[in-house]
Amino acid sequence: MKSRRTFIKSSLLGLTALTFPNIIKVNANQDYDIVVIGAGAAGLAATQELIKSGKKVICLEASNRIGGRALTDNQIFGEPYDLGALWLENGDTNPFKLFGEKNSNFNLYKESSEEMYDLYSGSKKVLDEDDIWKVYDGLDAAIVKTRKDISPLEVVPYKDHPWFDTMHMLFGAWEMGKDFSNFSCKDYNYDYEILESASWHCKEGVGSLLVDMFKKIPVQLNTKVSKIDWSGSGVKIITNKGEIKANKCILTVSTGVLASGQIKFTPNLANEKQESFSKISMGHYNRITFKFKKLFKEKVKDTYLYYKIDSQNANSPEGVGITINPSDSKLCICDPGGNFGKELLKSGEKASIDFGMSELKKIFGNKIDKDLIKSHAVDWSSNPLFMGAWASAEPGAFKYREILRSSVADRIYFAGEATAKDWGTVAGAYDSGLIQAKNALT
Ligand SMILES: Cc1cc2nc3c(=O)[nH]c(=O)nc-3n(C[C@H](O)[C@H](O)[C@H](O)COP(=O)(O)OP(=O)(O)OC[C@H]3O[C@@H](n4cnc5c(N)ncnc54)[C@H](O)[C@@H]3O)c2cc1C
Repeated sequence: MKSRRTFIKSSLLGLTALTFPNIIKVNANQDYDIVVIGAGAAGLAATQELIKSGKKVICLEASNRIGGRALTDNQIFGEPYDLGALWLENGDTNPFKLFGEKNSNFNLYKESSEEMYDLYSGSKKVLDEDDIWKVYDGLDAAIVKTRKDISPLEVVPYKDHPWFDTMHMLFGAWEMGKDFSNFSCKDYNYDYEILESASWHCKEGVGSLLVDMFKKIPVQLNTKVSKIDWSGSGVKIITNKGEIKANKCILTVSTGVLASGQIKFTPNLANEKQESFSKISMGHYNRITFKFKKLFKEKVKDTYLYYKIDSQNANSPEGVGITINPSDSKLCICDPGGNFGKELLKSGEKASIDFGMSELKKIFGNKIDKDLIKSHAVDWSSNPLFMGAWASAEPGAFKYREILRSSVADRIYFAGEATAKDWGTVAGAYDSGLIQAKNALT
């Protein structure tokens, strides 16, 4: 599917809390027209739209910050570091890019059309790349051509090729956050009619851009929703700070959170609706980041480094997607995904960093130890507020996208990236928030 391809090719967590001057207090006796649950891109876009329409609305966020899976830190490396979303996909229509380019606090640029790739087999730079791109194109064509609701594992060629594991990692973990056995070709291919255009980068970080865009939106932080009671005529939202009554609510938490049962529904939702939470399941995509003194000093920004992964056709290739100097930073991000990426981060920050370093050493040698300034790893998979990176349909479960999107009793609306046309992106999440706000207004 096109936008995901762009994602590849162009394509907590104990951090400093962000504070907002505009936090409002919940008054348990006060009724709201609409409660928005979650202050990521979807929840904030929905809240903004509802405020514009003159509705009495409150946005509840479990953590102590807004932004969700878009998060920029400035402390860890002493420069902007995106722990989550980093590429502003389809820049021509991306609402964050359109906001950022008009805002003098942010420096945005379009990713070079001359995509920068470095290919390595061990410590050797691969000069004759044709054979490798042949595998890439073959896998891409096979997955795209199959419009069936089956896993890529059933259709991909080149399983014996020495670069198969690398390509499996690229199309699977890096693009979908999933291994070939875990997603549906039909979902990957779904023709969303999204206008494709080049990705953009924000030097100050996508997370910072999002926070600035929504800085005037009131959000009640540190308020975790545990139950939605829709047995009466409206909804009663039960939180750790008390109960809130409203006519409707818009739920924007990830399908990982929904499937975990952290939010209960009274009465229970219909079986199919409930099943959609786990059928549109979370992919895993985590980040291990390094800053070196000299190693990548001369590299052009946004260089993609692909290296030969040898996992002997494992279900989940053991390797990382590497981007050097992303968004004009001086960082090297190594992103492990799929089941391997999930389990790696579960083994702890040190083990994850050690793995990332060992992969880089295969290419650049042991001497890079001495050149290292700092490292960091972030585990989105184990964080109970996300439980993964972004969601896609399991093989055979394509129909559940629509079921996930559907509202319940014209009172509970579902937004968030997993419900979006351009799912898996910040821009898609934003659009889904707008759509569901409009639906809730009717
Ligand atoms: C490592 C990584 C890299 C990515 N890279 C890109 C990229 O380059 N480009 C791109 O476009 N997208 C990327 N994405 C995907 C993108 O970040 C998401 O699609 C998008 O940010 C999701 O927004 P959302 O509003 O749907 O959900 P979220 O951002 O998850 O917002 C939901 C909010 O709900 C809150 N919440 C959870 N449970 C509760 C509860 N019980 N009560 C109240 N609040 C609750 C959460 O704290 C969260 O703030 C990446 C994601 C990850 C993790």
